[in-house]
Amino acid sequence: MQTVTILGATGSIGESTLDVIQRHPDLFRVFAITGHKQLERLVQQAKACHARYLVVADEQDYAKAHELALRYELSSEVLAGQRALEEVASAAEVDTVMASIVGAAGLEPTLAAVKAGKRVLLANKESLVMSGALFIDAAKQSKAEILPIDSEHNAIFQCLPADFRYGDLDASGISKILLTGSGGPFRERDLQSFMDITPDEACAHPNWSMGRKISVDSATMMNKGLEFIEACWLFGLGQDDIQVVLHPQSTIHSMVQYIDGSVLAQLGNPDMRTPIAYGLGYPNRIDAGVAPLDFSTLADLSFTTPCATRYPNLYLAIEACRVGQSATTRLNAANEIAVQAFLENRIGFTQIAQINEEILNRFEPTEVSSIQQIRELDKQARLAALALVEEG
Ligand code: NAD
Ligand code: MG
Repeated sequence: MQTVTILGATGSIGESTLDVIQRHPDLFRVFAITGHKQLERLVQQAKACHARYLVVADEQDYAKAHELALRYELSSEVLAGQRALEEVASAAEVDTVMASIVGAAGLEPTLAAVKAGKRVLLANKESLVMSGALFIDAAKQSKAEILPIDSEHNAIFQCLPADFRYGDLDASGISKILLTGSGGPFRERDLQSFMDITPDEACAHPNWSMGRKISVDSATMMNKGLEFIEACWLFGLGQDDIQVVLHPQSTIHSMVQYIDGSVLAQLGNPDMRTPIAYGLGYPNRIDAGVAPLDFSTLADLSFTTPCATRYPNLYLAIEACRVGQSATTRLNAANEIAVQAFLENRIGFTQIAQINEEILNRFEPTEVSSIQQIRELDKQARLAALALVEEG
């Protein structure tokens, strides 16, 4: 029996995690679930999964959450605030933490789980992009087990040899990691009309159903850029070890190429419950509720190279990865501000990349050695990006 905390339970990944968990009452018990603004949904979830704790991220929401808990006759204890998020991520009773808060807000709670030596199912890629070496060092020190939930990294993890040593591709006979991406909803859209793209159009991903921030990131391919950085940290890769491949059908979730010419791929329907179930059950396989891939109806699989004019954000992220930690932290922060502003109709779609590029060019790279410094860089880039949003 594994005891699990789900950070960001009300989100797309959180809901899918609860779906997998409720299929296996003999394997998992829920310790705590956390959420931000969807308080009623969070209370309903706590009732259904018998969570011991329900945590709201914002202390100001405590009274409202408490009142809802009474109305639903909830037996879970209600907690609130940043400290409570970190506590339920690191509590001694907890074996496994699903890190599925979106964005930089996930950094401290995810790190709390890492430092406490938990099995961490990592969906919150932004925390790794922001803190890279500090995150990986903390995991090495505490012996936390990081299992990638991002479908591409989960696929790569599955295609690596069991004795793969961090960063040592040669020892395993690996020549390349092939990171696949669908190209999002605007792969064939006329570039001239990119200024007219609406938030709803950007969030209508052809293959995956996801939260709004990552959906916009998929449309700009910043998501693939963040995943490029995420892959470098997770597996200890250099930038030249990874090739991004456009694969519109999202059937192959990524691949590992070996020096003998073999390429191992992981395939499946685009449903996040597969990598989530893999992480929860590891090293065993458990039912995820996902329909098997039907090869009799599968369309052709196609592959191309992503174009820099269509997807400038992808190449900005790869460039930031070359520059180093301060650049990826700032890029992530600027991107969160720009995406939020786009979702609020304050800037156009193409301005997201313009703001990101401006922030990357504006600041000199600096050495980063503490989470406090990371938070300072994050704040500096957010303020600068916000000023650009306001300039219009
Ligand atoms: P979502 O927007 O659907 O859910 C986000 C969750 O985070 C919610 O529970 C929300 O309450 C919580 N949250 C938001 N702001 C918060 C704050 N300030 N403090 C504390 N909690 C807060 O997002 P999602 O699509 O589930 O994605 C979650 C993470 O997983 C992201 O980092 C994303 O990149 C990653 N991911 C998602 C998918 C997917 O298919 N959805 C795939 C791969 C990786
Ligand atoms: Mg992904």
